[in-house]
Amino acid sequence: MKYISTRNNKKTYNFIETFLNGLALDGGLYIPKKIPRLSSATLNRLSKLNYNDLAYEIIKIYTGNTFSNNELKKIIKISYKKFNSNNVVKFSRVKKFNLVELYHGPTLAFKDIAMQVIGNMYEVILSKSKNRINLITATSGDTGAAAIDAVKNKKNLRIFVLHPKGKVSAMQRKLMTTVNSKNVFNIAVKGSFDDCQTLVKSMFNDRHFRRSINMSGVNSINWARIVVQIVYYFYSHFRLSERNKRSVFSVPTGNFGDIYAGYIAYKMGLPISKLIIAVNENNLLYKFLKNGIYKPSKVKFSISPSMDIQVASNFERLISSYYNNNSKKISELMNQLTSKGSYKIDKIILKKIRNIFYSKSINAENTKKTIKLVYQYNHKILDPHTSVGLKALEEYYLNNIKKSENLFCLETAHPAKFGETIYKILRKNPVISGEISKNLKKKEFFKVLPNNLNKIKNYIRANRLH
Ligand SMILES: *Cc1c(COP(=O)(O)O)cnc(C)c1O
Repeated sequence: MKYISTRNNKKTYNFIETFLNGLALDGGLYIPKKIPRLSSATLNRLSKLNYNDLAYEIIKIYTGNTFSNNELKKIIKISYKKFNSNNVVKFSRVKKFNLVELYHGPTLAFKDIAMQVIGNMYEVILSKSKNRINLITATSGDTGAAAIDAVKNKKNLRIFVLHPKGKVSAMQRKLMTTVNSKNVFNIAVKGSFDDCQTLVKSMFNDRHFRRSINMSGVNSINWARIVVQIVYYFYSHFRLSERNKRSVFSVPTGNFGDIYAGYIAYKMGLPISKLIIAVNENNLLYKFLKNGIYKPSKVKFSISPSMDIQVASNFERLISSYYNNNSKKISELMNQLTSKGSYKIDKIILKKIRNIFYSKSINAENTKKTIKLVYQYNHKILDPHTSVGLKALEEYYLNNIKKSENLFCLETAHPAKFGETIYKILRKNPVISGEISKNLKKKEFFKVLPNNLNKIKNYIRANRLH
C-alpha cells in the first residue's frame, strides 16, 4: 500500500512514514494512493469473522508488511483485552435504530478503539528501529485520555497533550490528569480546542522544531486512526444487516475522522447508503452540504464538547477524494482557506457528495429532549454526543420513510463522561465501574500555559525525551 499527501500526489510514502509523521511535511494529510475495493466473495468471507479477526484482515490491507502477521495479531489481541466486551463493541436498540456502543474501552469513548492499537504499534515500531519520539496531540477531551492510556509507561516515547482549559468535562480532564506516569505531560491551554489544534499544527509545520524533538502525532489526522476505525462499520453491518438492505450510519462529528472512516468502508465496497454528519451548533459541515462553502467561524461551546470544532481537519481528505486526488486543486482550495477564510467547491462535486452524505445540526434543546425521551421510554442514558447522532438519524428517517435500510447510530461515549450535563437533564448520575471512579480520585498533574506557541514549545523542549 502506497500513500500520498493531499497536497502532493507525486511523492509516495509507506505506512510507517505516514504513521510516524502524522501530518505530511507539505501541510497535507496522508491518503492511500488507491483505496482497494473488496470483492463480494471477500466481503462474504469477512462477514463471518469475530471482531479481532476482522480487524486483523482490514488493518493488514493498509499496513502491508510493516508488521509480521503474528505481530499484527498480537497488537490487536493485547489492545482489545482491556475492553469490557469480547467483541470490542456491543449493540443496543432504541425503536428502529441500532446503537453501536463504542465506549467499552479504558477511557469510555470510541477513541480507545483506535488509540490502543496505535499505542501498541508504536511500541513494536520503536523497539525495532531503536527510535525515540515525542508525541504531541491536541484534544477536545477524549483523544487525550485515550492516547495517554494507550502509551502510559511505554518505553522510548513521551506524550504531551494540549487540552482547552476549562472546556472539557471534569471526568474527561481527570481521565487525563490523574495518570501519574513519567512519560505523560498534560498542558491546559488558555484557549479553545481549535487553538490547541492550531498550536499543534504550527509545531508540525515547523520542520526545525519537529526534527529537533523527533515529533510524532496521534490526532485524528493520523491515518492509522482512520484505518482502525473502519473496522466497526464492517462489523456492525455484518452482524445486524437484514437481507440485502444497505446501511445508514449516523455519526456524531467534530474533526470528521470517525465518519471519514465510514466513507472509506463505503469506498471499499461495504453497502452503505448514507453517512449522516450529525453536528451540534458548530454546524459548518451542515452548511457546507447546503451551499458547498467551507467556512469556519467562531467556536460555540455546547453540551457536546468533543464536537465543539470549527476546523474539521479530515475534511480535506474527503474533498481530495472527490477531486480524484488532484493535489494542485486541493492546495489551491487550502490556500484560499488560509487567505480568505473559506473555499467553495464545484456544484457537480457537491451533488456527488450529497449522494452519500446527509447532515443535521441538533441544538442543545433537542439534544436534551432526546436524552430525556430515550431514558423515559428505553431506560437507556445517552451521552450528549450520541444524542445528537440519534436525533439526526431520527430526522433522516422521518424524511426518507420509503427507504428500507439498516439504521445505525454510533454511540461515541459513555454518559458518565458527561455526568454533570446528564445530572442536570435527568437528575441521575450514570454509573461507572468502581476501578475507574477510584482512579479518578487521585491527584491531578497538569501545567497551565497561555495560548502562546513559543511558551508551549519551550515547555515541550525542556521536558522532551532526548
Ligand atoms: C472525538 C469525538 C467525537 C467526534 O469525532 P471526530 O472523529 O472528531 O469527528 C464525537 N463524540 C465523542 C464522544 C468524541 O470523543
